[in-house]
Order: sequence, then C-alpha cells, then structure tokens
Amino acid sequence: MSRELSIAVVGYGTAGQAAALMLSGDGHRVEAFERAPQPRPVGAGFLLQPTGLEVLWELGLLDAALAHGARIGRLYGETGAARPVMDMRYTELEPRLFGLGLQRGALFSLLDRAWTAGRAIRAGCAIVAVDPREGRLTDADGHRHGPYDLVLVADGSGSSLRGQVAPARYDRPYPWGAQWCLVEMGAWPWPAELRQRYRQARCMAGMLPVGTHPDDPVPRASFFWSVPAAALDDAAWPGEPAWRAEVGALWPEAGERLGATQVPHGLARARYRDAVHARWHAGRAALIGDAAHAMSPQLGQGVNMALLDARVLRDALRTHADVERALAHWQRARLAHVRVYQRWSRWLTPLFQSELDLAARLRDWTFHPLTRIPGLRDQSLRVLTGTRLGWFGTFALAPAFLDALAATAAPAPAAAYTGPVEAGGAP
Ligand SMILES: Cc1cc2nc3c(=O)[nH]c(=O)nc-3n(C[C@H](O)[C@H](O)[C@H](O)COP(=O)(O)OP(=O)(O)OC[C@H]3O[C@@H](n4cnc5c(N)ncnc54)[C@H](O)[C@@H]3O)c2cc1C
Repeated sequence: MSRELSIAVVGYGTAGQAAALMLSGDGHRVEAFERAPQPRPVGAGFLLQPTGLEVLWELGLLDAALAHGARIGRLYGETGAARPVMDMRYTELEPRLFGLGLQRGALFSLLDRAWTAGRAIRAGCAIVAVDPREGRLTDADGHRHGPYDLVLVADGSGSSLRGQVAPARYDRPYPWGAQWCLVEMGAWPWPAELRQRYRQARCMAGMLPVGTHPDDPVPRASFFWSVPAAALDDAAWPGEPAWRAEVGALWPEAGERLGATQVPHGLARARYRDAVHARWHAGRAALIGDAAHAMSPQLGQGVNMALLDARVLRDALRTHADVERALAHWQRARLAHVRVYQRWSRWLTPLFQSELDLAARLRDWTFHPLTRIPGLRDQSLRVLTGTRLGWFGTFALAPAFLDALAATAAPAPAAAYTGPVEAGGAP
C-alpha cells in the first residue's frame, strides 16, 4: 500500500462516488465536492454490463444490485415493420453472463450508503477552477480549497473544468439527444430484454427494464426517445397529442405503457458529447469518467467505464508511490478499453440517430444477417457487452466473478405490484 494521500473529488456522480468509496477504503483522506445542494442521481436508467458488475462484485455490492436491478439477457432491436436489426444474447458469448438494468437512483444509493468510513461531502459547492500544479480548487464563492495530493475531476460529460486539467483534442456535442422517463413495468411483455424500435435513423425508441429503487418497490422500465438536439428546446415541443401519436405509431406497446406519464414535464432531456483528451492528467489533477472521455450512450458503456476508471486508479495508487507516475500508469491501463468504445459509439450513433436514410437502410439490411455469422457474432457481442479491449483483444473478467454470477440464480419474475403508482417521471 502506498502512503496516505489527501484527495479531492469534484462531482459526486458515478465516477466521483466510486472513486471516493474505493480510495477511502484504501485509507486515503477523501473530500468530495458536489455542486447540487442535495447530491442525487442524474440521468436515465441504464444498463450495467458484466464489466461494471464485476466492479460492484469486488466492492461487495453485487447482491444488493441484483436485488434491485432487472436481469437483461437479450438486446433486441427491430424496425417499425418488425424486421430484426439486432438480436444478441449474452449467453451466446458466455453462459453465465447477463446485463443488469438499474435505476440511476438505485446505483447512487448503493454507492452512497457504502461510503461510511472517512465520508466527507461538501454539497452545494460548485468548483470553478482547478490548479493542477498546486492541487488546489476554487469554488463559485471564491473560497480556495487544498492543497491536495491529488484532485480528481469527475464533473461529467458537460465538464466545465476539463480544459483546466488538459486540453481536449476535441470536445463537441452530438447533434442528437434524447428524452427519457421511468414508467411502471406493469405487464410489459419483455421483462428481461433491452428492446428498441427504429424508423430509419430519424426515429428510435427504447425500453429497458430497470427494476426497483431502495425507497420505491414499483418495478420500472426506462423509456428512451431519440430526438435532434434542437428539438429538446421547449419551443420545439410538438404538443402532447402529436408526441403520443408519433410514439404510438412507431411502437404501440410503448405508447400504451406511457399512458400515465405526464408529458412533456415527466420527460427528462439528455444531450451528449464526444470529448477526447490525449492526456487525462496533469500535475496532481486527473479527469475521470465522462469528464475524461464523454461518449454517446449508443453502446451503453459510460457508467461501466466510470466504475472501471475508479478501480484501475485505486490499483495504480497502490503500486506507485508517486502520484504522477500512478496517473500515467492508470491512463495507459484504461486507454485501450475506452478508445475503442469512443470510436464505435462515434461510428454507430449516426446509424441510429441522424437523417442519414440510406445508411439506416443499409443497417436494416445488413446488421442482423452479419451478426449471425459465427465469427462476427462473437465480435459484436464483445462490443455490446463491454468486453472488447482494443480492436481484437478481450477484457478479461475474473473467473471467481463469473462463478459468482452463476451462483446468483435468477429469481422468479416479480408478482405484479398492485400498490399506488406515481406517474413515471424523472427519479
Ligand atoms: C440517455 C442516456 C442513457 C445512458 N445509458 C447508459 C447505459 O445504459 N449504460 C451506461 O453505462 N451508461 C449510460 N449512459 C452514460 C452514463 O450516464 C454516463 O457515462 C455516466 O453517468 C458518467 O458518470 P460521471 O460520474 O462521469 O458523470 P455524471 O454522472 O454526469 O456526474 C457528474 C457530477 O458532477 C457534478 N458537477 C458538475 N459540475 C460540477 C462542478 N463544477 N462542481 C461540483 N460538481 C459538479 C454534477 O452535478 C454530477 O453530480 C447514458 C447516458 C445518457 C445521457
């Protein structure tokens, strides 16, 4: 174990939470700064891949995650005319694998409740400046904090601080984003599948079962509706009847599930960015999570990447007494995994969210047949399950973790909840 460090974590999202928990667990003095007065989860329900599940397993949180999440065995996408575009099962890659749909609030609570020893959070404190050389922070009220041995900047995809740590090679918004909400699962016919429906690349809807929240026993699904970023502005809202008609025309079952959802105010909005840094660190400061490598959620990897970033950083600090060396080692260790997903997301996103009709038609004709060819099927499954490392490598999952997954027998489907139900809104 290296010496005890004083560490500041800016942002208490998944990356900041995981880093704070793991580094405190190694005996470092950690102080987290979060701009929200009440730290809370931000963003849509999400799919945890085996890579992210492995981190939770190592933290002793796998059983709690499984108790709340929905096991996802299949990723299935089809056109409005019911032509399959994607049909992947985790077990085709490894019989013990599955994904876990989780509510953002469930993961937030699990990580938050696990951080007990050495817990120090300054909520309602927005950081506006980072001095990587001195390891100091300045907040929006002009107060200075530090010096720290290490500053971790985990302020998310729209990071306002990333350029103060290291110049971005590029940092640009995607032209499309999404609206989303949580809806009651009820009798949704696909409780163990991520389902998507497409009309060309102009229209895409998704439904991901995400289980329950520690403070709410109602099983829910996360609904995702793709829109051009400009259409996320209030002025572009087409009106409730038109919106419902459009969703219902693409996917009648989803339209029906959304019956109790208030629109537009029950719908949250998400914009995404593509940010690439040649270096994630300078001096005593490092970018972590989306701040280091924001990408489109098309492949659903960001939360998993944030958990892995924190784990690999903790391990680097265990083996290198010098902080700068540890950071260099950490970035090298993460880069092959992160870069390949940034590239795949950048290439695939326009096939699902754009006005490129011809490209979407090509997708509809070729994706499914190509991903049925044995060698190509394994490659696609590796990409989708988060276990691709570099172009041809494999992200190795610990055998003991795979055994732990196998030992967690899938529970019988939950009985339909009959209690009171909130209109599905943002958590
Ligand atoms: C629609 C959508 C669907 C997605 N689906 C998936 C999925 O299925 N699977 C998956 O793995 N990923 C998914 N993602 C990606 C995932 O949400 C992100 O990659 C992940 O949340 C990144 O975590 P983070 O901690 O880096 O950033 P965030 O979760 O954004 O956390 C950043 C934190 O920093 C705080 N903050 C910001 N600025 C400051 C400041 N100046 N001072 C102090 N605090 C600050 C914020 O309040 C926030 O709490 C999805 C994203 C979107 C938009």
